[in-house]
Amino acid sequence: MSEQEAEQSDRQKYEFQKVIEELQDYRGSGTQLVTIYVPEDKQISDVVAHVTQEHSEASNIKSKETRTNVQDALKSIKDRLRYFDTYPPENGVVLFSGAVDAGGGQTDMITRVLESPPDPIESFRYHCDAEFLTEPLEDMLADKGLFGLVVLDRREANVGWLKGKRVEPVKSASSLVPGKQRKGGQSAQRFARLRLEAIDNFYQEVAEMANDLFVPERHDLDGVLVGGPSPTKDEFLDGDYLHHELQDMVLGKFDVSYTDESGLYDLVDAAEEVLAEHEILQDKEVMETFFKELHDGEKATYGFDQTRQNLNMGAVEQLLISEDLRKDVLTYECSNGHTDYELIDTTADTDPHTCSTCGEDVPTEEAEREDAIEHLMELAEQRGTETVFVSTDFEKGEQLLTAFGGIAGILRYSTGV
Ligand SMILES: [Zn+2]
Repeated sequence: MSEQEAEQSDRQKYEFQKVIEELQDYRGSGTQLVTIYVPEDKQISDVVAHVTQEHSEASNIKSKETRTNVQDALKSIKDRLRYFDTYPPENGVVLFSGAVDAGGGQTDMITRVLESPPDPIESFRYHCDAEFLTEPLEDMLADKGLFGLVVLDRREANVGWLKGKRVEPVKSASSLVPGKQRKGGQSAQRFARLRLEAIDNFYQEVAEMANDLFVPERHDLDGVLVGGPSPTKDEFLDGDYLHHELQDMVLGKFDVSYTDESGLYDLVDAAEEVLAEHEILQDKEVMETFFKELHDGEKATYGFDQTRQNLNMGAVEQLLISEDLRKDVLTYECSNGHTDYELIDTTADTDPHTCSTCGEDVPTEEAEREDAIEHLMELAEQRGTETVFVSTDFEKGEQLLTAFGGIAGILRYSTGV
């Protein structure tokens, strides 16, 4: 992926995130909110046929209100489907429609269409409930990590990937390690030696399997997780069987009872805390750099106006935005061509504005209002600046929001702004 594509997908992800948050808040008074996930290889005509079928089945719904609401939602979805060609766009499309509670016994009919999500939609899903189905999209938008997974005991082993939230089993092996019970006629010493040899061979085989899979991807790999019963996983790690670069990437070893494919899922569950910690690692590093520059250097900037100015000059290396920032930007242009920007809460109304350069009054209705994050990301994109969304789940991340207005930057060079 080129840098530009990566930036574009960041912005698209943010736009998706906003729509999902909006949808999560909606409730239907009955089972009347319709969500449809369409994979890219599903013909639109098939989807229309499915929706038509659901529409006719909805006539059996007992409550008149729910029946009407479901049928209206389906009609609205059918109308939207007419805008597509034979197939949906790349990665598919998700459609949401339904009558949502608007308070005071009122309902609002809303319809949202999200095209080309970040990952391919895997299967067709029709869902009708009192809430919209947003989880599959949320999973796609979650921070993407790539982790190597290994589970083993002395009898079997499985290796695979954790990609984002998805576990992908890849290969398995089983051992010829004899049980603890020796056969008659064998000396105890010889039996013990053969058994240790067999264990050693099996660990080597498992390590080779892991090395073959993970080493070629080591530059994209965020870490390796190893699971199994004790002492197997400890012997395996202490014996340095893994390629040394992988060995250095082991984030932890975890107790897991099963070592078949299901063990890979258990491993991810057991490693939950370590993975959560890892997810905010980049955020933590970038905030450390910011505070270091703020106190001892000259390459930190913060607040909307300063950061925007630096961005505009192309001086920002990394734009830091708090994940919880919810602000709008107003752009005022007076008749003398001066431009002012103002940051306000997304829920706030606009006040009368006077041009900061010439003092001319600018009617509020002439101000352009847009989402602050989109405004800044667009500037960042034009200047080759990387945007980092910073979680508020750690102290310095929380400070970015509370003490610095949720907007900051690490500069390429000192600008004196
Ligand atoms: Zn002016």
